[in-house]
Amino acid sequence: MKELVEAIRREGVGIGTDVVKVDSFLNHRIDVALSTSMGQEIHRYFQNKTVDVILTVEASGIAVALTTAQAFGNIPVVFAKKGDHINVGHDVYTADVYSFTHQKMNTIRVSRKYLPEKSRILIVDDFLANGEAIEGLLSIARQARCEVVGAAVCVEKGFQDGGKRLRAEGLDVLSLSTVQAIEDGKIILSE
Ligand code: 5GP
Repeated sequence: MKELVEAIRREGVGIGTDVVKVDSFLNHRIDVALSTSMGQEIHRYFQNKTVDVILTVEASGIAVALTTAQAFGNIPVVFAKKGDHINVGHDVYTADVYSFTHQKMNTIRVSRKYLPEKSRILIVDDFLANGEAIEGLLSIARQARCEVVGAAVCVEKGFQDGGKRLRAEGLDVLSLSTVQAIEDGKIILSE
């Protein structure tokens, strides 16, 4: 997606060999116009599918999940929570997810009442690296006996194997941009 690729080229910072920092428009400050365009682009790709709910994980996936849900006609967004919050309760689906950025295990939780059986889910997230977050959401969808119609991410890091593995498992994965490598702080994009 051209606008996103341009924003990454203009504002993205490569950290080490494997982290993309895009705090100025995606992960800290949010560019609402760009988020809206990303949601519309995700909708264009999946518009022939019936989607009942957008599923993401807190926190950075929420913005683009919201604009995607708006593009689908204001369907609900459910975001998996990371902490053991009292207000999520105990009637939850859970999955253990290794966080690439925080380098620790998180248990993610979704209240059972927000994923009724047979819901058709579209997973949305900001980044796809090793695929742990999406695998965790897929596990939660399976526990809830829901159907996952696909997954969309803003940035796929093509040099990590999550995308390859998820596609090999048969998941329809849309990435709005793909980072091929990070070399001397420079982000090499495939478009
Ligand atoms: P995965 O679970 O696919 O290994 O990693 C995806 C998750 O880790 C995303 O939810 C995202 O929050 C975070 N993440 C992975 N790589 C990056 C990165 O290079 N930059 C940022 N900002 N987040 C990342």
